[in-house]
Amino acid sequence: MTLRTRFAPSPTGFLHIGGARTALFCHLHARHYGGKTILRIEDTDRERHKQEAVDAILAGMHWLGMDPDEGPFYQSDNASRHLDVAEQLIVGERAYRCYCTKDELDQMRDEQRAKGIKPKYDGRCRNRTAPPSDDAPFVVRFLRPKVGEVVWDDKIQGEIRVRNDELDDLILVRSDGSPTYNLAVVVDDHDMGINLVIRGEDHLSNTPRQIQLFEALAWEVPEYAHMPLLHGSDGAKLSKRHGAVSVLSFRDDGFLASAVNNYLVRLGWSHGDQEIFTQEEMEQLFDVCEVGRSAAIFDSDKLLWINSHHIRDAHPEELLEELIIQLEKIEIYGVERDKLLEVIPEFQERSKTMVEMAAKVSFLFVDDLPVYDPAAAKKHMKVASLAPLTELANRLEAQPEWSLAAIEKVFKSILEAFDIKMGKLAQPVRVSLTGTATSPGIYETLYLLGREKTIARLRHGVEFLEEKAAFAT
Ligand code: GLU
Repeated sequence: MTLRTRFAPSPTGFLHIGGARTALFCHLHARHYGGKTILRIEDTDRERHKQEAVDAILAGMHWLGMDPDEGPFYQSDNASRHLDVAEQLIVGERAYRCYCTKDELDQMRDEQRAKGIKPKYDGRCRNRTAPPSDDAPFVVRFLRPKVGEVVWDDKIQGEIRVRNDELDDLILVRSDGSPTYNLAVVVDDHDMGINLVIRGEDHLSNTPRQIQLFEALAWEVPEYAHMPLLHGSDGAKLSKRHGAVSVLSFRDDGFLASAVNNYLVRLGWSHGDQEIFTQEEMEQLFDVCEVGRSAAIFDSDKLLWINSHHIRDAHPEELLEELIIQLEKIEIYGVERDKLLEVIPEFQERSKTMVEMAAKVSFLFVDDLPVYDPAAAKKHMKVASLAPLTELANRLEAQPEWSLAAIEKVFKSILEAFDIKMGKLAQPVRVSLTGTATSPGIYETLYLLGREKTIARLRHGVEFLEEKAAFAT
């Protein structure tokens, strides 16, 4: 039997990190077992259905490499089927029309509370034979089994038992004629052939009700895996402050999809003490049955750490698109892809995010002369460097070939001529070329920057030092 699982978000907003984790667990488990993922947009609450929210969910899933195998399907498209099933339940005497008014229900609950009983619908319409009036509004309620219990072996939570008499006669169809969540989910899960439901622990209380419905309809009950919820590092429910923002905002902040997935997979699941997983490894190894029961904590420092590993280990081609996006944000357009592929390896070890990488490589692609970081200039742009820097510019200009070996040769000749150590030359060169005291290896920096920009920036550094020298005398 092919495993079929689904991700069923309500389109109330973007795909946030908690939703992405649910989608990821569905995706990975399905991949591991050669199953299928189905995306179902639960838009029964029509007023809440927003196309932008659906688009944002699809875009978030696409970025994370989790396009569904089937769907998106829209739950609202199945409303008439849901109502047919409700009718079928009425005919089979497993559901009934309830005409109780709001006042009646409020009074019933007040009386129950006064007697110290847990408020619950008392089933007074179960045996009603006729409506109170022809046009009396009604809801359809499920006639729950009065004895016995619902038992299921949750793949994460273990065995769960709920006595049937603890549950209410659930509303299946509202008085406006619209199907409720529990009815819609059961019908859709059945019709879509879902045999494993992976979802958040916040749905645990719905599961026994849904199982009762499956049983009343003599449909096969799917298996369930209820994932522990995600909390912020302070233990509070995840909020915007903790990162409950759109997953796409992680992209904006320079995170890689593989790193976000790797981070999310480790929230509740482990494989020995391995922390870094490629997408393929996750798909091979993940099993929802191995997810732990304790609440997961969102930790942005760890995400950053994992991201830096993924950047370091990536093939430059895998970083290209993300780098281009970040470069465009800082108004660097049209750099040749081959040039970027040459540049990326020099910066992989140095960048925790793609935003950082774009900022670090930007000096290579701007035409303007760099503005010196004051601290770097103060520390490294000393008048003593004026002569070696001038000579370096002259010799590089006279050097016909622009290769790492040729650059290295010129550098060595300057160190020898002035009898200085590499740091005394490399640091003022770095500041002159990048405006900062950090860059990849100095020969690589010159090589990547190219002859023309290197010479112009060295000459500018020389002018800076000349002014400084003039000022000092
Ligand atoms: N639509 C529900 C939600 O977004 C999920 C329902 C389910 O997985 O059964 O929370």
